[in-house]
Amino acid sequence: MRLQHLLPNQFQKAISQGWPLLVPAGVIEYHGPHMALGLDTLVVDELLERVSARVDSIVAPPFWYGPTGYAVTGANQGTLDVSTERFGRHVKDVLNSFWDMGFKWIIVCIHHQGLDGPEALSIRQAAAEVIFERSHLERGDAWWGKAPLDPKDKVFERIQVWPSVLPAAAAQGVVMADHAGYYETSLLMAAHPELVKLELLGSDAPWFCNAPDSKATQASSEAGNLMWQAMVDAWEADLSRLTRPARPSPTDVTMQGLF
Ligand SMILES: [Zn+2]
Repeated sequence: MRLQHLLPNQFQKAISQGWPLLVPAGVIEYHGPHMALGLDTLVVDELLERVSARVDSIVAPPFWYGPTGYAVTGANQGTLDVSTERFGRHVKDVLNSFWDMGFKWIIVCIHHQGLDGPEALSIRQAAAEVIFERSHLERGDAWWGKAPLDPKDKVFERIQVWPSVLPAAAAQGVVMADHAGYYETSLLMAAHPELVKLELLGSDAPWFCNAPDSKATQASSEAGNLMWQAMVDAWEADLSRLTRPARPSPTDVTMQGLF
C-alpha cells in the first residue's frame, strides 16, 4: 500500500502492526538516448511496490530529486543535480517525521551510484543522526551507556539504507554497477516497456550503453523479468527476517514446557 493512499484508519493499523515503511530514493539523470530520465527512481519504486505486494508494508513517495554530481551529463541532457548537503538535511527532516509517525522500521532503497555514492551517504548520515538524536531526546543522557540495551531493542536498525540489489540477488548475477547498459535496460523493459526505445541506440550512443560486459542492445524483458524476480525475492527474505519476532531460544521453549 502507498502511504499517500492510506486512510487514517489504515495508517493506524500499519503502525500498530509494525509494518515497515519502504522509501524509494533516486534521481533524474540521463540514461542513454533510449531510456527515461527517471530510471533510478522508477526501478526502486517498482521494486518496493512489488515487495509490498508480498510483505505487509507501506511504500512512501520517492525522494525524486537527489544529487547526481552531473557525473553522466550536464543539465542540458536532462540530468538534475542538488546540493548533497541540503538534500541530506531535507531527508533528515522527512526521516524524523516518519519516526514521529511511529514507523518501527524505515528502510530506504537506493539504486543510484550504490551505497557509497553521495546520495546514499547523505541518507545514511541523516539516518544515523536521527537514530542518535531521537534516542537521546526520548531516553535521556547515557541512553546507551547506563545499561545494556534489551536485545529486543532494535533502535540501531530502525532506519536503514538498503541497495536495490541485495547480496542474494547479486549472487544470482544481477549487477547494480551498470549505467544504461544491459541490466538497467532489461529492468526497465520488463517493468515499463513504454519507457524504452531500443531503436534510438545508434552508433553515437555513449560508451556506457555499450560497455563490453553490459551492452544495452542485448537487453530483453525476459532477462529483466529474471532480474526482478531475484531482486524481489531477496528483499522479501531480508525484510521478513528483519520484522519477524525473534524466535524463542531453546531455553525459553523448555521453560514454557516446564511451567
Ligand atoms: Zn542508473
